[in-house]
Amino acid sequence: MTRVVESVAELAALRSVWLAQGLRVGFVPTMGALHAGHASLVRRARAENDICVVSVYVNPLQFGPREDLARYPRDLAGDVKLCESVGADVLFAPRDDEMYPAGFQTVVDQLHLPRLLEGKARPTHFRGVLTVVLKLFNLVRAHRAYFGQKDYQQTVVLRRMALDLHVGTEVLVLPTVREEDGLALSSRNRYLSVKERKDALCLSQALVAGEALIRSGERRGSAVTHVMRARIERVKKAAIDYVACVDPETLRPLKQVGATSVLLVAVRLGKTRLIDNSLVML
Ligand code: AMP
Repeated sequence: MTRVVESVAELAALRSVWLAQGLRVGFVPTMGALHAGHASLVRRARAENDICVVSVYVNPLQFGPREDLARYPRDLAGDVKLCESVGADVLFAPRDDEMYPAGFQTVVDQLHLPRLLEGKARPTHFRGVLTVVLKLFNLVRAHRAYFGQKDYQQTVVLRRMALDLHVGTEVLVLPTVREEDGLALSSRNRYLSVKERKDALCLSQALVAGEALIRSGERRGSAVTHVMRARIERVKKAAIDYVACVDPETLRPLKQVGATSVLLVAVRLGKTRLIDNSLVML
């Protein structure tokens, strides 16, 4: 049975018991509307730890004023079912007033990483992510936390935060789970119309084309992004936010592709903004 916990005090009480018993805690932070991508993280957390905690919290602080906070999909009943099916012990679903009580004013930010890539279109996004994840880390005090490569920049930002702030939780990153045709699973996919769902394939196809070009010997980052861009531009309704070939740690654009690079795309289809990436290791 998955126990649904809504209050910080209840979570703190459970955590004290786990710590006293020397149990190892695995943690999967999410925004809910859980799908097979989330499930892969929960399964891993379940397998590698004594206790598995999943959080479901649509964090207002990481949404910009014109973003989809109000319409972001919420399905707590479905989330509880999924958590039960994969053996999560606790689903922590705090209310806003538990996470951001009156008077709240402390935030976590970084100097450079949050300004790149996603940060250009979403300037306050990573400040919100960093703040809520550190809060959740402090509340759950897990041994390990599991994140998806799907949000590549987020994994870099969070690993950096864990190092910089001496966070005692180990950050682990698992591969992106995809539909059979290549579309990365995302809670936002449910916004897509039938036509947009077809068009959305241009993201993963651009990544495949970029990777193929690198594997065929191309080393100029600009040539790789050119091919990826061209693949996306074949879809009339696709508006490119960015197409990038970057260093996996600094996230700076690569003039020359080295042993490891990351290809990233962000594309708007109608009202829905999708992201995807692939890590290319030669
Ligand atoms: P979200 O609920 O979208 O904030 O995502 C919660 C966690 O699930 C993040 O670490 C995401 O990177 C991860 N995640 C989302 N989609 C996928 C996917 N398709 N495959 C693997 N992990 C994912």
